[in-house]
Amino acid sequence: MTTDLFAALREGLPAHVLVTDADIAASYARDMAGLCEAGTPALVVLAETTEHVRHVMRVATRLRVPVVPQGARTGLSGGANAVDGCIVLSLVRMNRILSVDPVDRIAVVEPGVVNADLSKATAEHGLVYPPDPSSWETCTIGGNIGTGAGGLCCVKYGVTAEYVLGLEVVLADGEVLRTGRRTPKGVAGYDLTRLFVGAEGTLGVVTQATLALRPTPPPALVTVAQFASTTAAGVAVARIMAAGHTPSLMELMDGTTVRAVNAMSNMGLPDETAALLLVGLDTPEPAAELAAIEAICTEAGAFEAFTAEDAEDSAMFMQARRLALPALERLGTSLIDDVAVPRSRLGELLDGVAAIAERFETRIGVCAHAGDGNTHPIVVFDATDPAAVERAHAAFDAIMRLGLDLGGTITGEHGVGLLKREWLATELGPVGVRAHLSVKSAFDPLGILNPGKVI
Ligand SMILES: Cc1cc2nc3c(=O)[nH]c(=O)nc-3n(C[C@H](O)[C@H](O)[C@H](O)COP(=O)(O)OP(=O)(O)OC[C@H]3O[C@@H](n4cnc5c(N)ncnc54)[C@H](O)[C@@H]3O)c2cc1C
Repeated sequence: MTTDLFAALREGLPAHVLVTDADIAASYARDMAGLCEAGTPALVVLAETTEHVRHVMRVATRLRVPVVPQGARTGLSGGANAVDGCIVLSLVRMNRILSVDPVDRIAVVEPGVVNADLSKATAEHGLVYPPDPSSWETCTIGGNIGTGAGGLCCVKYGVTAEYVLGLEVVLADGEVLRTGRRTPKGVAGYDLTRLFVGAEGTLGVVTQATLALRPTPPPALVTVAQFASTTAAGVAVARIMAAGHTPSLMELMDGTTVRAVNAMSNMGLPDETAALLLVGLDTPEPAAELAAIEAICTEAGAFEAFTAEDAEDSAMFMQARRLALPALERLGTSLIDDVAVPRSRLGELLDGVAAIAERFETRIGVCAHAGDGNTHPIVVFDATDPAAVERAHAAFDAIMRLGLDLGGTITGEHGVGLLKREWLATELGPVGVRAHLSVKSAFDPLGILNPGKVI
């Protein structure tokens, strides 16, 4: 850490928000994406107010120091990883829910609010903030906005971008930009709010968000269907949607994932399955519709389909699904893909991933937000074996190629970060890249905001 940087920051920040101890600062170096490079931060600022953030950005602009915004660091693309000599700007202490308005159905929050805490706070008003990443008990709203996070119930209620009405953003030079509105409607000017959703901290630092809420639906009742192949499960997903059902969740775990979850948690999921499909409905009387969904699953080839006894039983299955990622990560070093395809192509993607696993002789467990066509093929390998590492990377790349060929995207919800940066140009094309670079330089002409990420 340079003395100049520290002295300049101290001019506008209290000592207790600065972490200068090299070992502690280093513990903020990375998010949860394995194998992504991470630099050594000069120091960490644990901002408590918008003024703190403004001061950091003014100093960073003056001294040309990179700034890496961070939430809870549960990201899976390296988007929150430090670069050498940067200021890590952690927003976790800005964690106040400023207001919940049941008439306007909005909440105004600081970025460090944990997703699940917001849901708890709005529940007493009979309202919910729907986007619910599996990491909801730890990840922050700022990080959710940074990545444009999805989640389990997004198949019915939509993703983060659909709930962010307005933002307060500190720009690279320390100026404060207010975007958006508190109203359901509003079309004044360009939609800058959406621009910041999914920008991964490369365009500005979100310091406040106005979020839309919805009335809390009844807890979901879940139908569980087991298939002898992922292909058949993909067919069931397509038929359920084509039949006009509107599940509040539709999640898939392949056999490898199911066994990993059982090994980690003793949840007693059916071990012999090739694919487990969970379909939930949160309507007041879901029984008849779930029976129809069970029948569709059976016709599509499910060898077992049943509906959980009650909401509590259903929640147990959802908890098992939430454990998929950590359970697979225990099996070895992992590369987590996030390919999303139109749901009509889901079966082809699942087949293709199985073929890729075979071709590259590598283990791939798949869990998916199946109703959104958003899959997480997780390539698990032995990092001490160079040949296995090479095969894993080749498989990881082949999955993204396949996703694009099927009309999909390289990332449905985790973001580009560092992990998929080399693939972005392939998806965007040269004109798309040029437009992205123009936007980046308009908001961050010195290139100090989360450099090396996304574009
Ligand atoms: C077990 C597990 C399950 C997961 N399940 C899901 C899932 O279902 N759906 C899903 O979408 N993701 C999921 N994730 C990934 C991750 O939780 C999300 O990407 C989440 O949105 C990251 O939030 P965070 O607070 O940890 O942000 P971080 O990881 O700290 O940051 C994420 C990005 O946002 C930027 N950022 C953070 N705060 C701000 C801010 N205030 N202003 C501007 N930029 C900011 C960072 O620079 C970085 O680029 C999962 C992760 C784990 C570990």
